[in-house]
Amino acid sequence: MMNNTMNIIRRVSNTFIPWVKQNNIKQLNINKASNVFIYNDKRKIVDFTSGAMAVNLGHNNSYILDGFNNHIKTGISYVPSNFSTYERDKLSSRIIEHTHKKGKVFFTNAGADANECAIFTAQEYFNLSGSKKSRVISFNKSFHGGSTIGASLISGDKRLENKDKFYKLSLEPIMENPNMEDKGKASLKQIEKLLQNDVCAIIIEGSSGSAGCILYPKDYLKKLEKLCNKYNVLIICDEVMSGWGRTGSLFAYQKHDINPDIITTAKGITSGYSPLGAVIINEKVSDIFNDNPLMYGLTYSGHILPCTIANRCFDLYTNNYYEIIRNTYEKTDIIEKMCNNIFLKYPFIKDFRNNGMLGCFEIDNYNNKLLERICFELLNNNIYCLRIRNNIFIAPPLIIDNEILIDTLDKIDMIFEKILNIGIYNEYYR
Ligand code: PLP
Repeated sequence: MMNNTMNIIRRVSNTFIPWVKQNNIKQLNINKASNVFIYNDKRKIVDFTSGAMAVNLGHNNSYILDGFNNHIKTGISYVPSNFSTYERDKLSSRIIEHTHKKGKVFFTNAGADANECAIFTAQEYFNLSGSKKSRVISFNKSFHGGSTIGASLISGDKRLENKDKFYKLSLEPIMENPNMEDKGKASLKQIEKLLQNDVCAIIIEGSSGSAGCILYPKDYLKKLEKLCNKYNVLIICDEVMSGWGRTGSLFAYQKHDINPDIITTAKGITSGYSPLGAVIINEKVSDIFNDNPLMYGLTYSGHILPCTIANRCFDLYTNNYYEIIRNTYEKTDIIEKMCNNIFLKYPFIKDFRNNGMLGCFEIDNYNNKLLERICFELLNNNIYCLRIRNNIFIAPPLIIDNEILIDTLDKIDMIFEKILNIGIYNEYYR
């Protein structure tokens, strides 16, 4: 199993790589992908975090790829969003049918801009309703996108006017995350106080991702929704990472029996095959724009290519009574059983948290060298797991074969054992 030649090439590139120092970056050059594997000339790597939790349906799916061919046949390169296309409107009506039942969808390029539009929509809803509430708050530990906020704030044209007034930095991550021990009570108590002070919306993740898969206690979201109703606060539910079957339902919030006012999504909507995001707005909020202009827009909003691909993915997610999503239950059982065993075996693993096929090992003692070694060993054994801070993620494509899943988790177990045995843990733990 152990292959000691990493074959990672230091690449001289003019590309900025996100989140890291640009000096001395080493990367594998990927030139092929299929099913749950990515390849370079010499290696076949299990993509055990679906890229960045995007490629839910696996790589090189011929049904999705046919969508590109069909798109090419139309000859349409681009039409602006003031023309309609069959694929765009088919996609929005399917999304509404599977969420609010009534409402509208605004298409964006990805997740960060979907959240920016959602936040502005919530603020604008209150503004147009004659309310002065404009604060949008989020959890202390959360992730909603890595762009700068509000590119439009630096746009010196007329369209800035009402955004300048309302789309300020009235966005604050100050809600206490829930914890399991008190069933989220302290968090709800703190949030109730916050909601009474100029808050127009909260933004939550359908299921926490990058912050470390922090789980919601039972009934927590239902109670949070009750508070939001009491204080007339909108709920924006970010399903960018947790959507499209990732946690065992089409969207993660659906397991909690709540009805967010605005849902944002991206990633799995096209299974990563092409960039697309969506802001899914219920009728109560979208109706306000019947007689007021919607003051945002993007050149590629509802572009026919990603919408065509998303419709293909939609077909696959919903095919045969959501078979792909239903099949994740068995895989979730495998992941939880094996990962909990791994967690109990190794002292440097502080926790394993998981919802469906979105989980992570939290590595004790935020120690870069130990974490770097873990990632090195994983990749050296042809397993790619995304690392964010001290969390190593387990989120393979939903379609992963059970045998490959078990085999990969066995390998991960062996890698942790090697790290324990050769004392890397002791060396780095201090
Ligand atoms: N929201 C959540 C929950 C995410 O996990 C991410 C990205 O990982 C984003 C938003 C940002 O999405 P994008 O990178 O597509 O802009």
